[in-house]
Amino acid sequence: MDNNCIFCKIVRGDFNTEFVYENEHLVVFKDINPKAPVHLLVVPRVHVESLNELEDKNLMAELLQGVKDVTKKIGLKSYKTLINTGKEAGQEVFHLHVHILGEIK
Ligand code: AMP
Repeated sequence: MDNNCIFCKIVRGDFNTEFVYENEHLVVFKDINPKAPVHLLVVPRVHVESLNELEDKNLMAELLQGVKDVTKKIGLKSYKTLINTGKEAGQEVFHLHVHILGEIK
């Protein structure tokens, strides 16, 4: 937990953010500035700055399983996933997250 991290605060429930999906490893919520009709963020409960700092292979697997579980839950069959790593690549929030971008047809 990083007290200055916006995603840690969301995970902790500080903003009463609605979770589209959650389990013991991660939460999923809507991106505040959506770039697609469906734009979700899959966010681990533990604070990891970026993919570069992620050492737990089990958490890597859980994040992708979370993508599968939430897309199945909401009926999103076709989608893109994105992980921005590092400032130059466009990472703005330094708490690892997977973007899910798509449209339910
Ligand atoms: P990235 O550029 O990969 O670090 O993505 C960070 C994403 O978090 C951006 O798409 C933002 O729109 C989104 N974001 C930032 N603050 C919030 C928030 N409070 N609730 C939901 N999404 C957020």
